Parts: sequence; structure tokens; C-alpha cells
Amino acid sequence: MPRGSNLPAVAGFNETVVLDQIRRSDDGVSRVELVALTGLSPQTISNVTRKLLQRGLINETGKVVGGPGAPRMMLQLNPVGGFAIGVHIDPVVITCVLLDLEGNLVAHSHLRAPSIAIEDPEEGIAAIAAAVDQLIAGTAVPRDRVIGLGVAVPGPVDAVRGRVVKPPLMLPWSEFPLRESLEAATGLPTLMIKDVTAAAVAEQWMNAENPSRNFVFFYYGTGVGVGMVLNDEVHNGASGNAGNAGHFRIAPDGPMCSCGRRGCFSQAVRPARLVDQAQQLGLLDATAATDLHSVFGLFERLVASAETGEPQARQLLVASVEAVGSFIVNVTNLLDVDRIVFGGPYWSTVEKFFQRELPERIRFSEIDNLSHSVNVASSVIGEDVVAVGAACLVLAGSFSPQSSKLQIAPAVIKVGV
Ligand SMILES: [Zn+2]
Repeated sequence: MPRGSNLPAVAGFNETVVLDQIRRSDDGVSRVELVALTGLSPQTISNVTRKLLQRGLINETGKVVGGPGAPRMMLQLNPVGGFAIGVHIDPVVITCVLLDLEGNLVAHSHLRAPSIAIEDPEEGIAAIAAAVDQLIAGTAVPRDRVIGLGVAVPGPVDAVRGRVVKPPLMLPWSEFPLRESLEAATGLPTLMIKDVTAAAVAEQWMNAENPSRNFVFFYYGTGVGVGMVLNDEVHNGASGNAGNAGHFRIAPDGPMCSCGRRGCFSQAVRPARLVDQAQQLGLLDATAATDLHSVFGLFERLVASAETGEPQARQLLVASVEAVGSFIVNVTNLLDVDRIVFGGPYWSTVEKFFQRELPERIRFSEIDNLSHSVNVASSVIGEDVVAVGAACLVLAGSFSPQSSKLQIAPAVIKVGV
């Protein structure tokens, strides 16, 4: 089985090829055009499109175009012909989204992750399954139209076995059969992907206005990481763990990191670490709890303080902007990307500050020798970005028989609708 062929099959190979071509056409496509686009015979196209119509995955638009030969009936994707669920498991919040076949957001929900869900994976799976049930029930979408579920998780991931391996903030989930359990609890074919990679998938699918074939998604959450799209393909790495940017070593004498080394990049930008420094400086109440939930509010206060010009708060934030600027220069030199997209749970808190302070700190020198500019932007998708990416992965599997853009390690194949 080739890598990447593990996605929920809504259709056979030819059906998927045809469906993908129909999806790519904005104004619909005729059967004659499909013959030319796919290389399949007219008879095969006729059979395949009939099946897709019967199953409600495509519509005849009724539009007849001119030109030589008989009038042609145009075919379009039926947006409500299928749906995909995306789940983002984060130590602080569990996000669920429902997308239609075109990738439109139909519904979403946010569950402030109860600590029990983090401490007890069984409870966590039950909570997620209940949230998915509620999400579907809150719409008019028939459950049997849901093709599958994509779940995005913090790394490191064991993509082959569908597990996370010692995720620093979700240790009880280590080696828990996450994908299998979620599949059993929801009854939906389930795919697993690393969170930062899912964010890049979402941006690739959704940002039609500013398409880039080479970009990095900078994920600013409890930790930091990057998702990469290189030459229009999502880069997963050999084990599905690409993008572990938080442990780039930027200061050999820097503070100790959870990985056991000193001076990791994440220590310069991680909200909990900045809050800790602010507490030590007396900028924030030193007695305030700094659990994962509390850090959010404390970090907001720190940023607000920096915005008003409090010198030490500003200095803390500027140091993290400096680190991000250097990081972007390094990554851009390494990968020759032309776009850096920022997003993730903490991004909106620092967005204004970074947008003001970052551009002047991204300094390319003449020896960097870039022949193009680098566009820095915020994600168009917002806080749901990772869950949306996980759901896009399910849709991609329905459209792309090769799944070349989204190769992930083997998982269970099940036939969907
Ligand atoms: Zn580290």
C-alpha cells in the first residue's frame, strides 16, 4: 500500500480522479472536458459520472455551453454531498469543525479541555465523541453523509500506529491508541496528523486569494512549531514529525528547556516562559497560578502592558520578536519560501505587537541573495485553523487518489458513504 492511500475512500480510483477534476473547476466541467482532463474513455466518464450523480457527490448544473457538437451538460461538485469532521486536541481547548465537500465551514465548537480529558485519555475520547455528536446533531447534516474524521494532535506523533509519543503537555496520552479509540467511539474513519502540519494544510486549501506554493505556517501556541508547504506539497517528514522548530538551539547559554538542552527557540517565545519572566520581574502577580488555562489571561495582561509602553514588558516582548525575526530569516534562507503565515491559539494576542515590530527585524543581507520578497501575514482562517486542516485532510483523501500533497503514514482504510 503506498503511503497516503490510507484516506477514507468515498469512491474508487476513477471516481476519485473524476471528482478531483470536477472540484477544481470553478464553473463546472462537461463530460467531454473530463475525457480530455483525465485521459479516461468517454464510456468510463459516462459510467463514473452517473455513479457520482447517483450518490449525490456531484450535480448537473443544467448549464449548456455552445461550441461544436451536441450541447454539453455541466457538472459541479455538490457541496452537501459529503462532509468531514476536524478535531484539534490541544491541552487547553478541543476544537471540532464540520466542513462540507467544498471545504466550507458548516459548524464548529470549542470545548475548554477539562483537565480530566488530558489526564485520562479514555475520558478525553468520550468527551470528543460527545462533542462530535453534538456538532453533527446541531446541523441538518445526516450522519451517514460524514465521510470521515481528521484529528490533529501535538507532536511527537507515531503516525503509523496513530498515537502520540510523550507529548510534553499531554503525557498521559503517550502510547494511547488515539486514532483507533476515536474511530471506535465515533464510528468514523479517522486520520491523524500533527497540529502544525494540519495548520499548513488548512492554509493551502483555504487561502485561494494569496496562493503560495512555498510557505511556512508559524504556529504560536503553548509551544511553537512550523508547518511547511514546499513546491505545493505538504511536508510531513519521514515520520510525520516535521516542523519541530521549538527546539532550534538559538542560545547555547540560554535557559534550560524541557528537552534537556539549553537555549531552545521555544524558550524565547513560549507564552508560559514569558509570563514566568514577567512574574520574576514583578510585572505580573508572582503568586498567580500558571497552569495552562491561567497563562492565557496572564499573557494577555503582559502584552497589554507592553502595548501601553511599560518598558520591561516591552523589552520582554521585543526580545521574543527578535528571536522570531532571526528564526524567519534562517527558515527562509533554508527553504526559500516566499510567505510566512502566522496563526495558532496565542497569535491573536500578539498579532498587533508583532505586525508592528516584526517587519523591521526580518533583516535579509545581501549574501542571503533572495531574489524575491517574503510576505508575512496572519492566517485567513483564525482559531479553527488546525481543526479545519485536519478536516481538509479527509476531503483531500476523497479527491486525490494519489494524495501526493498529503502523504501520511498508513492507517485503517474504511469505505465511507
Ligand atoms: Zn528544547
